[in-house]
Amino acid sequence: MKVRFWGVRGSIPVPGRATSRYGGNTSCVEVRPRGAAPIIIDAGTGLRRLGKSLMEDAFGDGRGAASVLISHTHWDHVQGLPFFSPLYRAGNRIDIFARQRDQHLEAVFSQQTDMPYFPVPLSAMKADKCFHELIEGARFDIGRAQISCTRLNHPWIAMAYRIDVDGAAVVYCADTAPFTDILFGREFMVTPPALDQPLPPDVIAELDRMRAGVVALAAGADLLIYDTHFTLDEYRLRPHWGHSHPDDAIAIARAAGVARLCLFHHAPMRSDDENDQILARYRGVVQAQGDRFELLSAYEGLELVLGDP
Ligand SMILES: [Zn+2]
Ligand SMILES: [Zn+2]
Repeated sequence: MKVRFWGVRGSIPVPGRATSRYGGNTSCVEVRPRGAAPIIIDAGTGLRRLGKSLMEDAFGDGRGAASVLISHTHWDHVQGLPFFSPLYRAGNRIDIFARQRDQHLEAVFSQQTDMPYFPVPLSAMKADKCFHELIEGARFDIGRAQISCTRLNHPWIAMAYRIDVDGAAVVYCADTAPFTDILFGREFMVTPPALDQPLPPDVIAELDRMRAGVVALAAGADLLIYDTHFTLDEYRLRPHWGHSHPDDAIAIARAAGVARLCLFHHAPMRSDDENDQILARYRGVVQAQGDRFELLSAYEGLELVLGDP
């Protein structure tokens, strides 16, 4: 399979000179099983350019099919969807998968294009659209690819996905906080709780269960893509934002025995030079600790070939 990064940023697009090498678009990763239709993970603004490239092929003639796995519906993971050209061509088929919510998924995504936010309603986009609601732990197939998922520790809850195909596995974990300090659910947290206070035993048990689910999902993966929005110091100031940092991602990668860990969902204020420095520093940490996985940092256009040639 081929994995290509079209958007690597968290929160909001940040085009500009300081972000031109890693890219300013928000979360979007394309997984392409050999000779098969694309499986897209998240629909941040990076999806727009992916859509344009797909239109040069079968999607331009209305003969394309794509699946989109949505981690959660925060803006930086869905904002590209109304700008995904294949949706506007009759004959294309787009399957959208996301976690089940109180409202049906189709209603959730339709609201995104309601007046006065967008001129074209989702219902007027001519491709065949099919919405699939997922529960935690669901397993299903997309063509030859086997998909599994588990929940993450993030406000309003996000899903992590694993795709097994062509003798390789890629795992996508964004967005998530570490599984140590706060148990996120649906509540909005105005201020951060004190990190030195002991947690109730039931919260510790739930966080442990969630972490074990993520480690099991990522077990032996060829590539683990992980939310490293923060540095460790930034995380300590804003633990209630629901994002992680490289130290935590490395601990998960080590526990899961992955072959490669890719830092992802870079904070909007992070410059290219800062991303370089973080990568260099943590490559040193990984080497010093004797970890066997390779450490990468995601940038727009990064393409990896995994599994059978
Ligand atoms: Zn995000
Ligand atoms: Zn989020």
